[in-house]
Amino acid sequence: MNDILPDATPRWQYLEAVTRTVLAAYGYREIRVPILEKTELFARSIGEVTDIVEKEMYSFEDRNGDSLTLRPEATAGMVRAGLSNGLLYNQVQRWWSAGPMFRHERPQKGRYRQFHQIDVEAYGLPGPDIDAELIVMLARLWKCLGIRQVELRINTLGSPEARASYRDKLAAFLRGHARQLDEDSCRRLDSNPLRVLDSKHPETRKLVEQAPNLLDHLDDGSREHFAALQVLLDNAGVSYVVNPRLVRGLDYYSRTVFEWVTTRLGAQDAVCSGGRYDGLVAQLGGKPMPAIGFAMGVERLVALMEEEGVPVPDTAPHAYLVRVGALAERAGLQLAEQLRETLPQLRLIMDCSGGGFANQLKRADKSGARVALVLGEDEAKIRQVGFKLLRNTTEQVNVPWDTAAARLAPWLE
Ligand code: ATP
Ligand code: MG
Repeated sequence: MNDILPDATPRWQYLEAVTRTVLAAYGYREIRVPILEKTELFARSIGEVTDIVEKEMYSFEDRNGDSLTLRPEATAGMVRAGLSNGLLYNQVQRWWSAGPMFRHERPQKGRYRQFHQIDVEAYGLPGPDIDAELIVMLARLWKCLGIRQVELRINTLGSPEARASYRDKLAAFLRGHARQLDEDSCRRLDSNPLRVLDSKHPETRKLVEQAPNLLDHLDDGSREHFAALQVLLDNAGVSYVVNPRLVRGLDYYSRTVFEWVTTRLGAQDAVCSGGRYDGLVAQLGGKPMPAIGFAMGVERLVALMEEEGVPVPDTAPHAYLVRVGALAERAGLQLAEQLRETLPQLRLIMDCSGGGFANQLKRADKSGARVALVLGEDEAKIRQVGFKLLRNTTEQVNVPWDTAAARLAPWLE
C-alpha cells in the first residue's frame, strides 16, 4: 500500500480533473459508495472460484460477528447501492465512481494491495451502441490526457448458455492435456475452466492457442451484438484487435469484454478493463437489467503518463511574501489576503518561518515562486511592497499595495 506524496499528487489531480470533464461530457454522474461491504456481496457477484474471492480479499469480522470486506472492486458496491436506493429499475443510469480498492496480491511494479480505480457504469441499455460509446469515450479520454501508447482489445463472451456449452468443450480439451497445465489452471479445470484462457503461465498459454475458440461457439444474438459493435468502432475510427482469449477475472461478464493495454509498463500492461454484465443486477436481487462498465487503474495510468512524458500542470507558488519586522509581519497578513481576494487563482506562500531578508529570500527561491514580494518596516509604514523577480536579475521595485495585484497578474500563466 503506497503513500502518494505531495510531489506525486499533481499528476493524479490532473488525471482526475481531465477524466471528470470527459465523463461529464457524456452524461455520467458521480456516485460515492462505502469502501466496506458485506463479504457475501463479493462472493455472490465476483464468483466464488476467482483469484479475488479465493485468496485476495481483506475480510474480517466486525464487532457483531458479521463478515465484512474492503472492496476489491467497485461494480458490486455500485449495483448494491443502486438496488438499495431503488435506482436500478426501469430506468437508465450513467454513473462513475473513484477510490481505493484492496486486493491481497503479490506486490510488484504496477500491482499493489491498495490501488485506485475510476469506475464507469451504464445501466439499462442493452444495445451495442452504448458499448461503442464507452469505448469511444475512452479513446477521447486518452487523447485529452496525452496518452498515446495504448491498444484496444475486444472480445465477446456470448450468452451464459453459449458460454456453458463452450465451457464443457474447453474443459474436455484441457483435461486431455492436463499435464501441460500449471497448478492454478489444473485446479480451475472443473470449477472455472474459462479462467485458464487468461493464464499468464507460458506452457499453459501455448496449449490455450490450440484450444477450441469461444467465437466458434457463440449464440446468434451475441454474434450480432459483437458484429454491430465492430461496425460502430470502425465508423468511429477507433482501432482494435479482436482477441478471442480475452476473458475477465470476474465471473459476472457476458457478451462484450474489452481491455486497453500498453507496452510501456512491463508485465502489468492492462490500464483499463471492462465489459457487459447483463446478469449481475438480477443476480444481486434486482429485476433483470442490462449493464456495462469498466475500471481504469489509476496507478498504471499515472505511470504511463510519466513514461510518455505528459507534462504536469505547474503547482509551484506564483509568489512568495517575505516579511521582516513586527509591523511588516502584521501588515503582511493583510496584504496577502488582499491579493488572494483580488486574484483567486493566485498561489501565494507567506513566509512564517522568520529570519532576515537573506534567509527568507533563499526560501522564496527554493519554493519555485517566480516573484518575491518583500515587506520590510519601511515599506509596511507607507503601504508599499517590494516586487522582485526571482528568475532573472532585474532590480527590486517598490509599488503601492493597490497596484501589486495588477503587477502580479501577468505571472499567473
Ligand atoms: P490484471 O490482469 O492486471 O490483474 P484485473 O483483470 O485483475 O487486472 P480488473 O479487476 O478488471 O483488473 O481491474 C481494472 C484495472 O485495475 C486493471 O486494468 C488495472 O489497470 C487495475 N488493477 C487491477 N489490479 C491492480 C493492482 N493490484 N494494482 C494496481 N492496479 C490494478
Ligand atoms: Mg488481477
